[in-house]
Amino acid sequence: MKIAGYEATILKVPEDEPLTNMRAGDRDQFRDVVILRLRTDNGLEGIGVTFYGGKMTGSLCTAVDELCDLTVGADPMRVEAIIETLRAVGESAGPGGIFTLALSAIDTALWDIKGKALDLPLWKLLGGHRDRVPTYASGALRRGLTDDQAQQAASILADKGFREMKTQMALPGNPTPADEIRRVQVVREAIGPDIKLMCDINQRWRPEQAIDIGSRVADVGLFWLEDVTTADDYQGLARVTAALYTPIAGGEYLYGIAPFRQMIEARSVDIVMVDIARAGGVTPWMKIAGMAEAFNLPIVSHVMPEILVHLVAACPNGLTVEYMPWTLALYEETPAIENGELVLPDKPGLGLKFDEKAIAAFRA
Ligand SMILES: [Mg+2]
Repeated sequence: MKIAGYEATILKVPEDEPLTNMRAGDRDQFRDVVILRLRTDNGLEGIGVTFYGGKMTGSLCTAVDELCDLTVGADPMRVEAIIETLRAVGESAGPGGIFTLALSAIDTALWDIKGKALDLPLWKLLGGHRDRVPTYASGALRRGLTDDQAQQAASILADKGFREMKTQMALPGNPTPADEIRRVQVVREAIGPDIKLMCDINQRWRPEQAIDIGSRVADVGLFWLEDVTTADDYQGLARVTAALYTPIAGGEYLYGIAPFRQMIEARSVDIVMVDIARAGGVTPWMKIAGMAEAFNLPIVSHVMPEILVHLVAACPNGLTVEYMPWTLALYEETPAIENGELVLPDKPGLGLKFDEKAIAAFRA
């Protein structure tokens, strides 16, 4: 089996909020996404998806094309050999940035092909630890909502059966610590004591602010506080992690594998969050999961639940899958949620098929 062709396409995917149908005012209308179809000479097709190119999404798509061109003729089962070749031709365009975002789509498509060639769903191919994994609603309880809207949205999520959900602090404007605290309190009021509640700061606090506000919300009972300060301030994060009772999650902004070593060795986080596009694909994501396991740390996913569910389910230290609905509309069908858990698919590879009608409508 050899790689025979490829097609990368830029899409503009509407930024709906399908979980609650309540949009915060702080969103763009569309998200630029690059999708990849990688084809083999025996008729298999692997799919990959990447983004974060922003206004350089055209360059990201070109990078995917240029790298894919060098995979034609290669054996798709030899993922590490292909990665090595692409890293060599990328010279110093890596280890982060557009090179890695592009590599991620190709690596993911190769694993999809491998699963299809072996007639195994990816989660089984990668370890197959569990056939269901907890998931949490993300993207609905955003900081742009008012307290009332946040309560209403949280109730909708609970009524839909979510047992875990994430909100945000670092509110817009110039909030006092009391404003910040009130936000998580009102959400907790709406959902009761038993639903797991996470809270994302998206790097917007200084470490001392995180310690101050974080200690004042300890009795709200947060499952984790996420990206409390600048993602690569490993020492600042470590101070916060050491000071707070609430677990600290982080890692989604890091590129590749090596920064995770620094983050974990510095004891910066209690929960390791890995973004597949910034990691560089399935291959490095699983290596980071193994690194976290060696340090007795759980691992969680970032966005693209339809793909990441396989990875979290594969590893023994997979904690929960972020159910962020950004890319769900690209597919005919995505994994179902039952009793707050994602059900792993039986179909080979990623078990996903692009919805060709939706793709045609989203074409940039
Ligand atoms: Mg986050």
